[in-house]
Amino acid sequence: MTQAKRIVAIIVAAGTGVRAGGSVPKQFALIAGRPMIAYSHEAFATHPAIAETIVVVAEGQQALAIAALGDAPTVVGGATRRESVSISLAAVGDATHVLIHDAARPFLSHAVIDSLIAALKTRDAAIPVLPVTDTLARGDVLLGDIVPRADLNRVQTPQAFAVEALRAAHAVWPADEEATDDAQMVRRLGVGVALVQGSAMLEKVTHPKDFAAAEARVAYETRTAMGFDVHRLETGEELWLGGVLIPHDKGLSGHSDADVALHALTDALLGTIAAGDIGTHFPPSDPQWKGADSAQFLQHAAKLIADKRGRIDFVDLTIMCEAPKIGPHRAAMTSRIADLLGLTLDRVSVKATTTERLGFTGRGEGIAAQAVATIRLPGSPL
Ligand code: MG
Repeated sequence: MTQAKRIVAIIVAAGTGVRAGGSVPKQFALIAGRPMIAYSHEAFATHPAIAETIVVVAEGQQALAIAALGDAPTVVGGATRRESVSISLAAVGDATHVLIHDAARPFLSHAVIDSLIAALKTRDAAIPVLPVTDTLARGDVLLGDIVPRADLNRVQTPQAFAVEALRAAHAVWPADEEATDDAQMVRRLGVGVALVQGSAMLEKVTHPKDFAAAEARVAYETRTAMGFDVHRLETGEELWLGGVLIPHDKGLSGHSDADVALHALTDALLGTIAAGDIGTHFPPSDPQWKGADSAQFLQHAAKLIADKRGRIDFVDLTIMCEAPKIGPHRAAMTSRIADLLGLTLDRVSVKATTTERLGFTGRGEGIAAQAVATIRLPGSPL
């Protein structure tokens, strides 16, 4: 009877090099608002054949790993990549096979993982490769010999191994010699390494331009939604509009501060992520929202979008009333809304109109507001 496979993924993320202009090691630098390491970690974590994913970090990086990945198990690696892998092999428990991956290759597909696991049925080692398609030539100034490329491959990760084979390779590898990858090490022991189809998406992200390319590979989905609200004008109430207190002989009445403009805007933002409406999140029946500052409703909607790594591109607000005149307060409202949403002023539009003395707004009984919000949500890498 063959032993059941238990496959553990190991992500080597112990580098300390910082992206140009960044403040955290590259593997924790953001791609489309998400730490680079989170992409490949998710690929392993959501693959049904991977029992566990262990992350190897450098001393002092555990907090970064927890911030990026939640409570993913981490081990502290060594001074070199080889040492880090060796240390992680002691942490894989009863794993029969391991997939060793570099955090610098974020866009790992399940297809590559599937191919590697399939190859492990007949081999103790398997690696993803891509053929070399460019012409290769020697020489740094003048063209020298053309290097035949028919049998050349670009080697990627993850690299898959039977645990015993990889442990044996690490055990005998000379301490003073570096290895470029683990496949090289098991090969020295005579282990046949199967080649499977790699992926152009697995390109290493190293230089600043690679980050820009990686960013471009994350597909964004544009979402637009609208919000609408009405509140009654009454004497003896403060008039809060667009987050600004406006001197007027009447104010808007409602359970909260009744800022009709911020309510419409909040509903538009909630609409972009299909998260219900303002009443879903702040029920008027709940006494804690009595007289509440509507700025917090708007900021809550913005946080829900940020939690999905979304970006607010633009908000557009139209306030409908006969009085007060909105023009003198437009700049203050724009600035307040931009501030609450963390947007530049050119991404916030505040407009106003009368309704030609028609209807409840025309009679001064209430104020209506309509808002449209446009956001972008990152999807999976293309
Ligand atoms: Mg309202």
